[in-house]
Amino acid sequence: MESEALWKTALANIELSISKANFVTWFKNTSILERTEHEVTIGVPNGFAKEWLENKYNHYIIQALQSADPGIRKIRCVIGSSSHATPQGTTPKLDSVLPNKGFVEPKSIDFKRKKIIQQPSFQSKDNLADTGIFHQSNLNNRYTFENFIVAENNELARAACMAVSENLGGSYNPLFIYGGVGLGKTHLLQSIGNAVIKQHPEKRIKYITSEKFTNELVNSIKNQKIDRFKEYYEQMDLLIIDDVQFLAGREKTQNEFFQIFNALYQINKQIVISSDRPPKAIPTLEERLRSRFEGGMITDISRPTLETRLAILESKVTEKGATIDKEALFYIADNISQNVRELEGALNRVIAYSEFQKIPATLENTKKILNQLLESNKKTVSVDDVFAHVCEHFQVSKEDLIKKGRKKEVVYPRQVMMYLLRTELQHSFSAIGEIFNGRDHTTVLHAVEKIEREKGEKDKIKSDILRLKEILYYTPSE
Ligand code: ADP
Ligand code: MG
Repeated sequence: MESEALWKTALANIELSISKANFVTWFKNTSILERTEHEVTIGVPNGFAKEWLENKYNHYIIQALQSADPGIRKIRCVIGSSSHATPQGTTPKLDSVLPNKGFVEPKSIDFKRKKIIQQPSFQSKDNLADTGIFHQSNLNNRYTFENFIVAENNELARAACMAVSENLGGSYNPLFIYGGVGLGKTHLLQSIGNAVIKQHPEKRIKYITSEKFTNELVNSIKNQKIDRFKEYYEQMDLLIIDDVQFLAGREKTQNEFFQIFNALYQINKQIVISSDRPPKAIPTLEERLRSRFEGGMITDISRPTLETRLAILESKVTEKGATIDKEALFYIADNISQNVRELEGALNRVIAYSEFQKIPATLENTKKILNQLLESNKKTVSVDDVFAHVCEHFQVSKEDLIKKGRKKEVVYPRQVMMYLLRTELQHSFSAIGEIFNGRDHTTVLHAVEKIEREKGEKDKIKSDILRLKEILYYTPSE
């Protein structure tokens, strides 16, 4: 059978098995470019179609082709048109199909809905090779709203993300989500993309970290393909930029990003951004970008509470089909409170270890397994670290802590600071006295003893110390 006839037959089959909208979206402008005994090469108009046909419709296509030619085992998609389908009958090389020339629909296939606006083939092999722009949505289907545990620390962020996924370019544009490391920002951002693609497979979605974005941009400038780079990004329906704080200090990138941002924003395309801090706390972020970010919806994710951590662990255990004692789970949730990534890491470690060693994941075993981890996670802590965290925790300045002065707001933080230097850094009383403006070692001794004594009696002191130790040792360095 001729290639054209073969493809027509296959399309007729595929059309029966998928929805009309999907059929038109993904199979318009496709044709068979090449055929060997077992393999068929299909020409597709752009990277979206390539990604989609190869990953999602691969199976349908092979089945449909096999119904006409049982020898076919494999398909391959390449971006470009078939030679005989060009209007003037010229024979373009695949590589020369320029991004903004548009794609010419093969004449042999009669799609009824001719009115569909032809999408410029924004991604030919040509710019793919030279600029590194090869369309990949970069979505990972492991991140969904369904497997995201909602709690008070993230419910607003999640609601905003869901609203965006249901109404791209609506009132939450741009959507800016910020929060510390490992708290679920990437998970939520990716969930938006995955939810959109499920509902509207034709939407153009790009997820990218700002670091990768910067690299791509730098390459495109080097290769003099910056226009194509921008053109590519400006065609997205949903652009997700993760960890935007890395744009700080990169003037050129910010400038180009600003233009892409505006181009998309003006035509109501959705932009979603994440960062480890709010826009106003990103140093050297251009004012105009900052005000753009602040012009949309801003929401944060904070640290999960113990109950939330437990809920997350329980859901991950179910997801993995593992068995682990309740007290052991509690121990993990209680000891790893800074971020969900570490929480998951600890859980995985316990599961893996207990499966590997064939020992049950009891509280005792979990303690043994995790204590190693908790130890190895410990950072080396300096006096400056202790100062920084104590000052931040109590909202006092270092000068006030050191100064001689008995203002009530600083006396307690100062005692805590001395206590931590003694117990965590094993400084001598007199060395601590030196740090505190030459105070006498007995003053230090009294402070340390006071905290030691009272932390057993007063919950506030106990929790301050616990919290500070936790921050000192387990906050991941960023
Ligand atoms: P961030 O981007 O904020 O650094 P991630 O989104 O990468 O954090 O989250 C770290 C890990 O924790 C991921 O594996 C993610 O799936 C998981 N995670 C975070 N928050 C939740 C949650 N609320 N429910 C389920 N999993 C979560
Ligand atoms: Mg992330």
